[in-house]
Amino acid sequence: MAQPLSDLALHGGAPVFRTPLPYGRQWVTEEDIAAVVAVLRSDWLTTGPKGEEFERAMAAAVGAREAVAVSSGTAALHAAVFALGVGPGDEVIVPAMTFAATANAVLYQGGTPVFADVDPQTLLLDPDQVWAQITPRTKAIMAVDYAGQPCDYDALGTIAAGHGLPIIADASHALGARHADRSVGSLATLTTFSLHPVKHITTGEGGVVTTNDPGMAARMRRFRNHGITAVHALRAQAGTWYYEVEDLGYNYRLTDFQCALGISQLRRLPAWMARRRQIAAAYSAALADTPARPLAVRSNVVHAYHLYVVQLDLDRLSADRAAVFNALRAEGIHVNVHYIPVHLHPLYRRRLGTAAGLCPVAEAAYERILSLPMFPAMTDDDVASVITALSKVLQVYAH
Ligand SMILES: *Cc1c(COP(=O)(O)O)cnc(C)c1O
Repeated sequence: MAQPLSDLALHGGAPVFRTPLPYGRQWVTEEDIAAVVAVLRSDWLTTGPKGEEFERAMAAAVGAREAVAVSSGTAALHAAVFALGVGPGDEVIVPAMTFAATANAVLYQGGTPVFADVDPQTLLLDPDQVWAQITPRTKAIMAVDYAGQPCDYDALGTIAAGHGLPIIADASHALGARHADRSVGSLATLTTFSLHPVKHITTGEGGVVTTNDPGMAARMRRFRNHGITAVHALRAQAGTWYYEVEDLGYNYRLTDFQCALGISQLRRLPAWMARRRQIAAAYSAALADTPARPLAVRSNVVHAYHLYVVQLDLDRLSADRAAVFNALRAEGIHVNVHYIPVHLHPLYRRRLGTAAGLCPVAEAAYERILSLPMFPAMTDDDVASVITALSKVLQVYAH
């Protein structure tokens, strides 16, 4: 039997959470703080020893030869697109269901993002759609491990190899994930991570690119430092002040105190991953057969659950996503929506002439998705209360 509308906090009922619960949040310990403070007391606030130490730790964590630390996940994407030599006239295939930064990185270098649709069950880049978008101008494929689940790198790898194309994996959601016994970070030509506070580990702002190609790593290290090379032979001749600006680079360096935070946070990644998977298991068990369907999980993957996304079965509800969103927000649950399909943003409509209808699966999904709170510091009570609130809202709006 349907519950009365007045049970909802939106209509005057008692909210489940008095203090709002965010969808994601960092976890900073006293140990992290001590690590940062130690660097602040040292001689090296930036370009010091912690940078290299963090890069070695990240490379080891994901099983890649090289890791290049930069100032944000967006800078990591920019560096990756630069490393592949993408420029005007080049096309890069990008999934429609991602944060705009994925596609923006292609525009930064003058390239053209070409949007490919996603799989309706996982919302991951659909390899058949990638295949359909390849042209003689295609320069690279960007894959996004949406919500923390690795894409189908077997299928994408076959397509990429068949056309001699590199893959950039935007793994901002997927630090710690695995695909067929290999870690995300070692599955693509270049893999980017974000270290923003809502992501798995944080440096405040920060990003990393991992690769097995030392040449590309060197190119990205130059890119994050104004494109500067220390030309050793000329330096010996002309004096140690000599350097050359080889490429148009940026200042995308990450400070040493941020790297110290990253090193400290990375130690807790395995425990945090386990906790994220526990929370996901509790949600998935509670949501079976409800009108809030969890995304499908592919076989042969370890999911990193940056996000826990449900798709509302709107046929079974008298409310739309906005109403469910507002009702949950009133209950003190800061659900979110990831993402507005990138090609629908005004920037892309203006620049590339994209419009609704281009990626129908992503567009339909966008009307139904909600991200539930998911972060390792959530207590079991928090998880149970999210489930209680969601059940309450779904029952009120059930047909
Ligand atoms: C967070 C995120 C980014 C950008 O990372 P920043 O560190 O915020 O610059 C890019 N792509 C995706 C998919 C993200 O989730």
